[in-house]
Order: sequence, then C-alpha cells, then structure tokens
Amino acid sequence: MSTVVSYLPSAASGTAPGETPEAEIQRIFERQRETAIRLRTSTAQERIAKIRKLHDAVMAHREAFHEAAYLDFKKPPAEVDLAEILPVISEAKHAMRALKKWMKPHTVWPTSLTVGLKSWVQFEPKGRCLIMSPWNYNVNLSFGPLVSCIAAGNTAIVKPSEMTPHLTTLMAKVIREIFPEDEVAIVEGAVATSTALLALPFDHVFFTGSPAVGKIVMAAAAKHLTSVTLELGGKSPTIIDASADLKLAARTIMWGKYTNNGQTCIAPDYIYVHATVKDAFVAECINVLKECYGETAEQQMNSPYLARVVNQRHTTRINTLLTDARERGARVLFGGQASEKDCFIQPTLIDNIPEDAKIKTEEIFGPLLPIIAYTDLDRAIEAINADPKPLALYIWSRTESNIEKTLKRTSAGGTCINHCVVQYAHGNLPFGGVNNSGIGSAHGIYGFRAFSHERAVVRTRFMMARVLFPPYTDFKKKLMNIMLKTQ
Ligand code: NAD
Repeated sequence: MSTVVSYLPSAASGTAPGETPEAEIQRIFERQRETAIRLRTSTAQERIAKIRKLHDAVMAHREAFHEAAYLDFKKPPAEVDLAEILPVISEAKHAMRALKKWMKPHTVWPTSLTVGLKSWVQFEPKGRCLIMSPWNYNVNLSFGPLVSCIAAGNTAIVKPSEMTPHLTTLMAKVIREIFPEDEVAIVEGAVATSTALLALPFDHVFFTGSPAVGKIVMAAAAKHLTSVTLELGGKSPTIIDASADLKLAARTIMWGKYTNNGQTCIAPDYIYVHATVKDAFVAECINVLKECYGETAEQQMNSPYLARVVNQRHTTRINTLLTDARERGARVLFGGQASEKDCFIQPTLIDNIPEDAKIKTEEIFGPLLPIIAYTDLDRAIEAINADPKPLALYIWSRTESNIEKTLKRTSAGGTCINHCVVQYAHGNLPFGGVNNSGIGSAHGIYGFRAFSHERAVVRTRFMMARVLFPPYTDFKKKLMNIMLKTQ
C-alpha cells in the first residue's frame, strides 16, 4: 500500500503551483508498464477484489465527501449521495456481479469463408489507461470509469479536475490509501499536468469534459494512435408538446435542471414548448422553483438545496450570457438576479431569446433555462438538427406520432420520453454522446468494453484454406468461380 504523498511542487521545482511535475508523471507511467503486462492474466476474482476496495473506501468516506463538496461549491449532501456516491456504488456493484460473464470469450459461428475454423472474441485489457475528469461530478466521473478500467484489467492514472480542490484532495487520499501507484495512481493538477499526461503513449484515454478540450485530447491521442472515449457536453434540448403532462414535466425538469444548479452535462439546456401550453408550463415551473428553493433571491441564495456556481469565472460567464440575452431583447420570466462575488445566480427562466444571443449557441452549464414557444414540431426538429448532435434530447408527450417522429428524425447520445437525466442511471444502457457530444460509451458492459480490446481469435479444426494455396491450377480457378457465385 502506498503512503500519502503530495506531488504538488515547491516553488523551486520549476513547475507551476498546483501542477504535478512532468518527471513525476513519467515515473508513475513507467512504473505501470510491467504491471499492465502482468494484469493481462488477472482473474475476475482479483479485479472484483480491487473494485470492492474502491466501493468500501467510497462508502467509508461518505461524510468526508459531503464536507468536501460543500466546501467546494456548497453542494447539498443529498446531491452528493445521489449523483456522486450512488452512481459509483451502483457501477461497482454491477461490475462485481457481472464481471465473470463480461470476461467470457464469445464464440462465433464460422461464415462461409471460414468453415473449419473455431472462432471467438476475447476481451483483453488495453493496458495503461488515463482517466481525465471534469469538476461537476468529479468523484462520480473519476471513480465510475475507474471501476470499468479495473474491471477490464488495466492500470490507471486518474486526473481529476482542479476546480473542486477539496474533492480532488480527498479522492487522492482515498486512492493512495487503497491502491499501489503502479496499479492505480492519481495525479493532481490543471492544464500543464493534463498536457504532460496527454503527451504519453497511453493505451486508452477516457476523457469527460467539454467538446473544446475533447478536441485537444483527441489530437494529442492521435500522435500515438491511442484510442479514446470522449464523454463531452453541449446543448441538450427538451421538447414538450401540447399533449404532455405539464405538472409532471415541470417538476421533473426543474429537478433535472437545478440539481447541481444546472451544472450537469445532461441537464436540459433549453426547452421547446408548444405555444398553447407554454404559459401553463412556465407557471408550473415557477411554482416548483419557489417551493423547492424559496420565493426570493435571498431565500434561494441561502437554500440548503441549491449548489452554487463552481467559481467566480463561471458565474461571470453565465451572468454574461444572461446580460447579453437581455440586452438583445430576451425576457426574464423568473429569477434573473446574480451576485458574482457569492457565485450565485438565481434559477432563471427566460423567453423571447433572439437568434443572435450567445445563449442560443453556447452550452449554458448553469441555472439559466431558455423557454422557446413553437407551433410546428417539424420546425422545432429542424432547428435542433441545425445544431451539433446533443448528448441528450428529452421528449414530453402523450402523442405516439410526435414521440416517434422526434426519435426518428433527430440524433442524440441518449433520450428520455417523459423523463429526464435518468438515462445516466441505467447500468444496462450505453451512456455517451455522438460526434460533438462524444465518442464511445460508458457504464456497465459498455464501460468494460471501452477499456478492453476485442481480440479476434481463430483456431484451425481442419484446413480448408489449403485448397486455395498455390499453385493456382485450373481446378482451383474453377473452385474460386464457384465460391464467387455462391457467397
Ligand atoms: P473541461 O473540458 O474544462 O475540463 C475537463 C478536464 O480537462 C479537467 O480535468 C481539466 O483539468 C482538463 N483540461 C482543461 N483544459 C485543458 C486543456 N487545455 N488541455 C488539457 N486538459 C485540459 O470541462 P469542465 O469545465 O470540467 O466540465 C464541464 C464540461 O464537461 C461541460 O461541457 C459538460 O457538458 C461536460 N461534461 C460531460 C459529461 C459527460 O458524461 N458526457 C459529464 C460531465 C461534464
């Protein structure tokens, strides 16, 4: 078991404060080389034992995670349980239950060209893997992929986000207490540390974060032809048609949006609601917001149920989106007040958003919710299709033809019909984006496969191919003619 060491540099080391020195990163990476080869033969029991250690350590530090998340951005403990700890525990339990089955080679039938061969797909560990995480669910999005990485038999270097420092320090303590660094290491730091890590020839990089940084990660990985899983973000639309259950929609959407104060990759970014039900829907949303977080800005700022924006830079960014939209003619339906020094922006509903407002194109990732009235579903779908493919698209409707039409004519990483954000919690569904919102999938067997190489193996039973070896006699040419016709 490794001791708790801080890699954070002294002023004399030449590395910026808060970053891990390159030499230290290189040393850990080298230490994982032999281990990664050794782990190729690791058994399901050995991997399960490691996952159990992680599971138990997370549970043992539950209160410490509550405290750290509160210190970072006043995240309510109930939301730490729901969206940081529970998903890791659930991913771990799922993997512990199913790993033996996932690891089993899959025998496949021969195709007509391969009669005589026994064939199977065998899952081998990729090797040395890098997991880079965003700040918004720093624990969940570091330890969740780590479960899959361990399940697949790899070593890991985890680089959590620097933006929630209390959580990151605690995660580093937990990992260093339970794993030797040649198996699982955690490296703290920001851009310089990420850049040094990305320069190394990892066997797989699993990145969760913004599309902009996703492109940097993919370009760096391309230098070594390292495979990547990119779990990215973007603007996730919600459509509410005239037949939807508005009360249920309002309550569920306000929960999906304002958990973590809108700082969730799959939170509804904006809403298309049918013009005939828009006012009723907005009224329901306002009731829910008042009931959950209080009537006034002051009550909301002091609500124990509403996390803050993560830092002042992001508060200013979000407040600028709001100001820009207002200056161009948008109307605030609820909220609208901000205190940048307190990292607080009221839960805010807005409409009349002009086309040139920045909020139309930028991922909001905060407590603003644009509400757009539509009259023709086809036009709403066209507008969604004009933007990059989203990570999530939500449909609220009791009209099957509208649900079908929206599902078939759009593309998104995942979709809920009459629900939101819960697609993340389903361990038997792939979780991931499409193009701008991501490449590859996480969770359950999909996470296991993301960290595995699917190796094709054939074994000769009887050698049919012999009939095609040279010399190419007339008989063999005739045989080829027959084969070409009968495939
Ligand atoms: P981010 O992309 O800024 O940071 C993610 C990670 O990349 C961090 O560890 C950070 O240190 C590192 N990083 C930042 N800049 C870098 C650079 N120039 N070079 C190399 N590494 C760099 O994302 P964030 O602000 O932490 O998180 C918000 C984004 O993540 C949003 O876009 C959100 O939608 C997305 N997200 C996606 C998912 C998902 O599962 N698809 C989940 C959560 C968040």
